[in-house]
Amino acid sequence: MPVLPRRKAEQWQKISLTTLLTGLVSLSVLLTLTILLFASYQSKKKSLIDTTLTLNYSSAVKMSQTIDSLFISMQNSLHYSAIILSNMNSMNPDEVYPHLELLRHSSNYFNSIAVVDETGLIRSTSPKSLGTVGKYIITEEAKAAMASKKPYVSKPYISATSKRLIVFMSEPIYDKNGIYRGYIGGSLYLQEKNILNMIFANNPSDKLGSYFYIVGSNGHVLFHRDKSRIGEDISANQVVQKLMLNQNGREEMVNLRGEALLAGYVKVPTNGWGVVVVSPISVVSEQLNAQLKAILLYTLPPFVLVMLVVIMLARRLARPFVSLANLVGKMGSEKVEIPDGKRHWNREADLLTEAIRYAVGEITKQTEQLTQEAMTDPLTGLTNRRTLEAIIHRWLEEKTPFSIVIMDIDKFKTINDTYGHQAGDEVLKHFAKIIASSTRPDDVCCRFGGEEFIALLPHANSAVAYHVAERIRSTLEKSATPVGETITVSQGISHYPSHSNSAEELIHLADQALYKAKESGRNRTMITEL
Ligand code: GH3
Ligand code: MG
Ligand code: MG
Repeated sequence: MPVLPRRKAEQWQKISLTTLLTGLVSLSVLLTLTILLFASYQSKKKSLIDTTLTLNYSSAVKMSQTIDSLFISMQNSLHYSAIILSNMNSMNPDEVYPHLELLRHSSNYFNSIAVVDETGLIRSTSPKSLGTVGKYIITEEAKAAMASKKPYVSKPYISATSKRLIVFMSEPIYDKNGIYRGYIGGSLYLQEKNILNMIFANNPSDKLGSYFYIVGSNGHVLFHRDKSRIGEDISANQVVQKLMLNQNGREEMVNLRGEALLAGYVKVPTNGWGVVVVSPISVVSEQLNAQLKAILLYTLPPFVLVMLVVIMLARRLARPFVSLANLVGKMGSEKVEIPDGKRHWNREADLLTEAIRYAVGEITKQTEQLTQEAMTDPLTGLTNRRTLEAIIHRWLEEKTPFSIVIMDIDKFKTINDTYGHQAGDEVLKHFAKIIASSTRPDDVCCRFGGEEFIALLPHANSAVAYHVAERIRSTLEKSATPVGETITVSQGISHYPSHSNSAEELIHLADQALYKAKESGRNRTMITEL
């Protein structure tokens, strides 16, 4: 059978079913894991950002409320002091000073307090050490407070005398007749220990890198964990701008230093300040990464397990197809056999195995039949001449000694003429049976052509061959033939290696001996004589 026309190199370039299946499975598992991680990363990111924004916003709201009520209290305390002062009727520093001291020490609201009369003269201060008593106010803010004759809150500014960054608030003093008599003003020293940093020093929003700052209505920093930034103008900051437009909110932003932040910002109603609570976005990323690692840690082992199981299943599924393909590939070059009785759980694999088993069985049967036919004589079933010659040549090569007995039925033409060709054929079959039954299984019985037969007897010398030939001859002679009359045979014998080393010569010598047997009266056996 011809070998299937395929080239080895071509085979290597093609992907095997096992690789294909395991590859597909691995790919889909990996993709699923990636999508899962990506989706959970995205949703976690969103929820973390939302949570942080909400937290920052609610902190900002709380702080704004705290500052608001603080300012109302501050304003109230100044207001009631103003009433007390107006009742004093005079601005006598000796009377005023103890009151200012009481106000400053009892509440810690202000770093310093001053009383200024309607001319702008500073009448009394607490602490006294300010050294401004008896001087006139000179800063814009103090003058503005005086000019307004109303409750006043300044923007942060550098005080003229102490060169400190301060915020200043004042209440007007009116006498019983409603005449403006000056004001009482309190100052917060923004960069020093003050009521704001006393309240917010341990703010919980400091966790996870979050921090807050307070801006004045002009966009200057009033409070910051980094003291050096207090007083800085950050009005260009996007959330500060919103605060300046009286908006509250929460959003992702980039500050003036280019840092990405999550900010909650709320305006303080009473003084126009703004509270901003921010968390660097990197904090969210760190949390996300930690969560992602945790997810990976929990999902990876089961995923690997699933992948291994599925790969194993894929290999099992591919196995019958792979072994069938290998078997079919071998067909023609070697004997192919599919082990019987092994059913596969996969329908297609099972069907295909059964179909190929059937096909291979049929092909093998046909091949054997064809081979048999090519080797035998159809009439008698004995080996044919071609095969005989091949066997002789093989034995000569192997130097296996053997004898040739060549047989020719006597007067066969007459049998044909008398009983017909068909009866002749029956006689041929009859004789073939006698030859086969008179020889051993190792001997080769052959129809050499027409009514001539040859028996090849391995390891038999001329004498043994003669004995066998005589047995055949006498068996035929004694046998009841299909035509009912006695039939005889003449035989010639040659021996390898004693008579010749050539196949043609050996046959020729046996034929000559046969001729001599015919000559000598037929129904006899003659051995080659050299
Ligand atoms: P002898 O050998 O004794 O000298 O005489 P013979 O009559 O056998 O002579 P020969 O060998 O010349 O004749 C052989 C005959 O065998 C000729 C042919 O008609 C016949 N024959 C050859 N092959 C077949 C065959 O396949 N079937 C039949 N029925 N006859 C065959
Ligand atoms: Mg003949
Ligand atoms: Mg003959």
